[in-house]
Amino acid sequence: MPNTKDIVVGIDMGGTSLRALVVNSANEILAVEKTSTNTRQEPDRLIADLAGWLEDVVRDSGIQRSALAAVSIGAPAAVDPAPGIVYHAPNLGWDKVALGPMLAKLAHVPVVVENDVNAGVVGEYSLGAGQGARVLVGIFVGTGIGGGILFDGQLYSGSRGAAAEIGHNVLLVDGPRCGCGNRGCAEALASRTAMERDVRSAIKGGEKSIVLKLMKERAKDRMTSSIIQKALKKRDPVMQKVMKRAEYYLGILVANVVNTLDPDCVVVGGGIAERLGEGFVGPIRRTAYECFLRGHDAQRVRIVQGALGDNAGPLGAVVLARQRLKIASKN
Ligand SMILES: [Zn+2]
Repeated sequence: MPNTKDIVVGIDMGGTSLRALVVNSANEILAVEKTSTNTRQEPDRLIADLAGWLEDVVRDSGIQRSALAAVSIGAPAAVDPAPGIVYHAPNLGWDKVALGPMLAKLAHVPVVVENDVNAGVVGEYSLGAGQGARVLVGIFVGTGIGGGILFDGQLYSGSRGAAAEIGHNVLLVDGPRCGCGNRGCAEALASRTAMERDVRSAIKGGEKSIVLKLMKERAKDRMTSSIIQKALKKRDPVMQKVMKRAEYYLGILVANVVNTLDPDCVVVGGGIAERLGEGFVGPIRRTAYECFLRGHDAQRVRIVQGALGDNAGPLGAVVLARQRLKIASKN
């Protein structure tokens, strides 16, 4: 392998695990590595572990250390990307941690940090379902509902860096309490966490469902996307009802976003979209089309499933690092 400094490692920093993609200048994935994180550690310990793991990733993927141009991290947090500071990361218990500078110092390599959902939207724009869009909105449905907005390929972050909190659009006044403190946010109605709450409450109310049995069989303490998929396949009535309601709210959410930003593409990503595909995105699209203000060219708003799955975040992080650090790219 030629010894050119063009490899970027993109890292997705989850609440319980780290995933790294080793990516060359043609945006080809050379290796995928995964490890678990102990999020209860102090940030400096975790960052030291991260630096050590990075050396393992480089060694195991067979690239030369000298070919490593940068590391780019998508963090589940409010991020100030210029110095790479993580502000509020509830999943990690972090507040104001200089992740970028600290890791750069330990690993002797430039480090870029971005919000994970923003990175995911950049990934879908550059290499996935959002290619060619002038105004792209990404909505990622998982534990929460994250959003990202790109105008002409540039992330839109607002006046305070707080834009694109699409999941905190209030869709049901006086609805269920959201993690943000408000009531009736999209996230409190249609995230996987909200769906699990509704399934559990239906079961408590006496409705029959196989969801808890599936969780027990798979030794899961939460309703994962694969359990949702299995329950729907078995035509579990509670799961069907809860999913239908979540899709309806997501359709309304997309309609609100279209009315506000008039995007040419909305990408729906995250674990459920990846598992269920058109079965999930189809009903969302139908509701959105019924609800947003339509002109003669309404059909030009594409509402599609993400194409990159779990790789959207780390690949987007790599693309951002190449742009920000002006690292060679073949695309
Ligand atoms: Zn909220």
